[in-house]
Amino acid sequence: MANGKINVAVENIFPLIKKFLYSDHEIFLRELISNATDAISKLKHLSSIGEVKGEIGDPRIEVKVDKDSKKIHIIDEGVGMTAEEVNKYINEVAFSGAEEFLEKYKDNAKDSGIIGHFGLGFYSAFMVAEKVEIITKSHQKAPAAHWICDGSPEYSLEKADKKERGTEIILHIAEDSTEFLEEARIRELLNKYNKFMPFPIKFGTKEETLPLPEDAKEDAKPETQTVDNIINNTEPAWTKTPSDLKDEDYKSFYRQMYPMQFEEPLFNIHLNVDYPFNLTGILYFPKIKNDLNLQKDKIQLYQNQVFVTDNVEGIVPEFLTLLRGVIDSPDIPLNVSRSYLQADGAVKKISNYITRKVADKLSSLFKKDRKSFEEKWNDIKVVIEYGMLTEDKFYEKADGFMLYPTTDGSYLTYSELEAALKDSQTDKDGKLILLYASNADEQHQYIEAAAEKGYKVLLLDSPIIAHLIQKLEGDKENIAFTRVDGDAIENLIKKEEAVVSKLSDEEKEKLKPMIEGVVPGEKFTVKLEAMDSGGMPFVLTQPEFMRRMKEMQQTGGGMMGAFPEMYTLLVNTNHEFVGQILHTKTAKKRERLIQQALDLARLSQNLLKGEALTAFIKRSFDLIK
Ligand code: ADP
Ligand code: MG
Repeated sequence: MANGKINVAVENIFPLIKKFLYSDHEIFLRELISNATDAISKLKHLSSIGEVKGEIGDPRIEVKVDKDSKKIHIIDEGVGMTAEEVNKYINEVAFSGAEEFLEKYKDNAKDSGIIGHFGLGFYSAFMVAEKVEIITKSHQKAPAAHWICDGSPEYSLEKADKKERGTEIILHIAEDSTEFLEEARIRELLNKYNKFMPFPIKFGTKEETLPLPEDAKEDAKPETQTVDNIINNTEPAWTKTPSDLKDEDYKSFYRQMYPMQFEEPLFNIHLNVDYPFNLTGILYFPKIKNDLNLQKDKIQLYQNQVFVTDNVEGIVPEFLTLLRGVIDSPDIPLNVSRSYLQADGAVKKISNYITRKVADKLSSLFKKDRKSFEEKWNDIKVVIEYGMLTEDKFYEKADGFMLYPTTDGSYLTYSELEAALKDSQTDKDGKLILLYASNADEQHQYIEAAAEKGYKVLLLDSPIIAHLIQKLEGDKENIAFTRVDGDAIENLIKKEEAVVSKLSDEEKEKLKPMIEGVVPGEKFTVKLEAMDSGGMPFVLTQPEFMRRMKEMQQTGGGMMGAFPEMYTLLVNTNHEFVGQILHTKTAKKRERLIQQALDLARLSQNLLKGEALTAFIKRSFDLIK
């Protein structure tokens, strides 16, 4: 019928584009299936307005791999094209789109800033094929058309005898792309990009077991039949209205998305907005382990049910990237750099909307069923704390549902905490002192001691808690967090009568240099204090500020510079053992007692390691033998 030359300014852009997109060749399949989907959508639309007469049935798409003749076929039952339309949409539109693309990206397509998922369209077929054919029959009364192009700007367009409406694209796979002739590879791509597309996609066949008839004999074998293998779920949960979905539907969709996850999600958030931007989706809260790096099943981004990427950085606020689920929005610009994305007004709105929805959901869960919210707290707190730390809007909302667990098993909000402690746990200036432990096992001794004095101790054990505490102290008026083994605990107004010292001032003056003579001064500051005689003789505390800065450094941020290890050694002058030190005559024996007591105090703080630990054990055996 005709031969022609594609009208492009760049002579032979095929090899060029191939080079530019070397890492992303696989998107050709997504693009061609998207076109097939569009063709079916158009057909359905034309049928609904009466422009296509008669039943159109249930149009589908089929993908076939013919390894022997090195071909992939993508067949659809959509609108099809007339020869004129092929000329217009393929020779002019598709190629001009590709040319425009090239023009735009030739300098920086390989720049890591560009998201590797752009709609290259029909043209992307040439990333993997040395020759492409289109055989298409329009829904209109016109002969079918056959277009062939071998990767040079020349093409041929002839009549074909295809009878059924629709389009078949035939890719003659190039030598360097034969991986795509493997069925497993195509299956993998379909599963990645097309799992939730809106029209059925057939890929091969499968065996299906038929149910046994009611009167079947006991040893009867069930029969099987060969059926089409449809690879996609055409109506994924996020496209439905929340009121049509039950809890079980959300869970089963989760299993579909993450078949390797055996743990059920804690709850989900259905996103649904169409103004001022279009966005649907479902986010799931999984149980989040303390290890923030171990996140491999990520939120997936779709555009109109086509998978785009699972790198949602810049679109979803960072603290929510710990969640799972899907976001589907045609309004997210994807062929731009990440930094542009973050600055984009529309994207900022989307990100704010998601943050707000998550905060609202958490707030309603908290209000509706506090007990179950408390039970989930340990699995969700990292996300909430991370969010409070990084998003001010979220911080404001979270104040109502952020929980502060106590070591005795209750969970209080900030205002409940304030009400409970404002009269009992303050320093002399009336500052609210919030005692907390970061590890219930390691700080057991201190928690016990504080509880005995009637103080409430919080259990704040997330890896980023030091940062959050810092922020809370800056934000709330007149409060200070103090770890139970920190030194500021001494500032608390004592509830009971001050303990009377059993040692006289003279004795104390004698004792202090004795201890300082043994304890390394660059690490420990010795402080004598009359404490409960039932407690420990030597107790190590660490300045709250120093320790917190160090923790913040470890988890990123905080002040720079190395912080020295500094401890206060509290010596309980009322303890029998301390009296014994004072009254031991021989210097050698006394030094051994001090050393032993210091090591025990270090041991209780998990600070005794290596050579010091070995020496301690040896000395202990000497003492008991
Ligand atoms: P886009 O899909 O963004 O329009 P493409 O390069 O993917 O760009 O496709 C160009 C045009 O070719 C489409 O807009 C459509 O008109 C036509 N086309 C491509 N594939 C098909 C198909 N399978 N059936 C009908 N028309 C098609
Ligand atoms: Mg397209």
